[in-house]
Amino acid sequence: MSSFSFATSSNIRFGEGCAKTIPSLLDESLSPLFVLTGSDSKRYAQLIGLLTQSGFEVFIHPVNGEPDINTVTLASEAARESGAQCVVAIGGGSVIDTGKAVAALVTNSGKLIDYLEGVGKGKALVHDSLPFMAVPTTAGTGAEVTSNSVIGVPKAGVKVSLRSASMLPTWAVVDPELTYKLPPEIAAYTGMDALIQCLEAYLSKFANPLTDGIAREGLRLAARSIRAACSKELDTDAKADLCAASLCGGIALANAKLGSIHAFAGPLGGMIPAPHGAICASLLVSCFSANLRAFDTRDRDNPSREKMNDVATLLTGNPQAKASYALAWFESLCNDLPLKSLGELGLEHSQIEEAARKSASSSSMKGNPIELTKFELVEILEAAL
Ligand code: NAD
Repeated sequence: MSSFSFATSSNIRFGEGCAKTIPSLLDESLSPLFVLTGSDSKRYAQLIGLLTQSGFEVFIHPVNGEPDINTVTLASEAARESGAQCVVAIGGGSVIDTGKAVAALVTNSGKLIDYLEGVGKGKALVHDSLPFMAVPTTAGTGAEVTSNSVIGVPKAGVKVSLRSASMLPTWAVVDPELTYKLPPEIAAYTGMDALIQCLEAYLSKFANPLTDGIAREGLRLAARSIRAACSKELDTDAKADLCAASLCGGIALANAKLGSIHAFAGPLGGMIPAPHGAICASLLVSCFSANLRAFDTRDRDNPSREKMNDVATLLTGNPQAKASYALAWFESLCNDLPLKSLGELGLEHSQIEEAARKSASSSSMKGNPIELTKFELVEILEAAL
């Protein structure tokens, strides 16, 4: 077994209603708090009220849509001006990633672009982030336990990461109640991200025994509950399962990396105005199928090929299940949920070459369990269109 390291948020709290305990985690020296929410900050008025009632000075900063270099820069300037001692992000991955980057940029001067991988100088963050609390309201990204923030760079037509071990959130507070009112369509595409992150971290070239255990359990939970968690009827057990799966996916990917689906999602997210989870979901079947074909034609005895059979067992509960069953299971799931194809999400056939080229150099592609040829990358996108 090759050597590995493992890190996650220093304090994880999970359970229905646990968000109400947030003030007890923070001490008064952390005031003022810079609190980021989605554009719907009223939805979290009660939660923010608990902070003010506990004596914290609070600056609220609403975030609209997935973060890009401009929105993150503006939010960082506002946080600096407020004199914030701690950053709290209450929202989906977009709000959490914005908050995570803000917490890092308040203590590290200079332009954001200089710190970005791929498009900037990739300068290292020197100083620790401000203390940062992540409170997810979607069950999807696991960003509450990862050390990167995904940021759009419109000029380069790509989404890239600001990344540092020091960006791991100080606290992750995962309260499934906060996801109860997610509309089914958003629950579906964010939930698919959670499932796919567990899948890709499990199959990743960089997986280790710790991430395997966590990713397998996350995949099992997501598989048993994703349909019910995305239905119009509230199923609190299913919602909790999907939140736990999202947490597992985040912990696993932060230590094992991902694979081809997320390697495509970075560039595609910069090329088409579609939600991250929806892009990932549209690629699940064609990427899993391409990996399976690649193993079967050129590396059948690779241990990761056996893991694909195990995936089928985790999804179906059948110990004899083969990888092809997993493929059928994924196809049926994608048909049952309100998801879209890559074409419906806005990708044109003429953009396929560019997306394939950009994905080949994405850091997530390094985790894909088998190397895919340029031809195979193009084939995946054509099949997902
Ligand atoms: P999101 O945060 O963009 O939210 C999706 C939609 O759901 C938004 O319209 C939002 O307003 C709405 N919403 C959020 N919570 C809600 C609630 N409780 N009720 C009703 N509506 C609600 O979606 P996401 O999938 O959570 O995050 C996507 C972002 O996270 C992308 O930018 C992606 O690249 C990034 N990401 C980051 C990591 C990481 O490790 N840092 C991992 C995966 C994805």
